[in-house]
Amino acid sequence: MKFSSVEKQHLLRAWLVISVAFAIMLSGGFSFSEQFFTAAVMSAVTVGLGFLLHELAHKFLAQRYGCIAEFRAFDTMLVLAVIMSFFGFILAAPGAVFIHGHVNKARNGRISVVGPVVNIVLAYFFFAVLIATQAYAYGNQLISNIAYYGLSINSWLAVFNLLPFWHLDGAKVFAWNKRIYAAALLMAIATFLVSIQIMSSCVSCNPELADACLADFFLPPYFLRGGEKNQSSVRQFCHLT
Ligand SMILES: [Zn+2]
Repeated sequence: MKFSSVEKQHLLRAWLVISVAFAIMLSGGFSFSEQFFTAAVMSAVTVGLGFLLHELAHKFLAQRYGCIAEFRAFDTMLVLAVIMSFFGFILAAPGAVFIHGHVNKARNGRISVVGPVVNIVLAYFFFAVLIATQAYAYGNQLISNIAYYGLSINSWLAVFNLLPFWHLDGAKVFAWNKRIYAAALLMAIATFLVSIQIMSSCVSCNPELADACLADFFLPPYFLRGGEKNQSSVRQFCHLT
């Protein structure tokens, strides 16, 4: 994959800012504390990586098809994400890959579908980590949190981006091939249901987590409410029953 130096700066900036924004939301504010640092690392490897690899997948395939594909951060949206994070929710649009060159509808559809597919693959990777943590490292709360959050946020990113509206990936996949669109959407929804199922089994084994879990349930990542409710979900995540 070819990267311009400007593009590398944009990718790094978007990754860092989105990680900080989610860390502010998850830890309930900005501070030089261990809790904030932990939330920042957690955000960087879950939502940050999910967003980054999603965009890079678009770029990779577009370049394979002979197009010029460059990522550019949306600075205004990044500033807005940080401001919103202090109020406990984030509507994130960190940036996008701009593609120049001629692609037909099929290639455009394929370039679009790989983004959400990467999120689904990542979600299952985190799911596997979660299961492994439960089996081999019982009691490691931090890895459990990261794995669960990675599963939950990546499955949500896949579902959200596959909506067939606006300029979302889903609209282009839908225009290209309805069957592939349906398969991708079903896969994304199934993954998202897995994350909800884990959270509800978590609630039944620890009722105190109900509030935190419900906040995740109804308003996941792209429009995730934070504050006190999510603080508790960062600090503690119960084990699979
Ligand atoms: Zn995309």
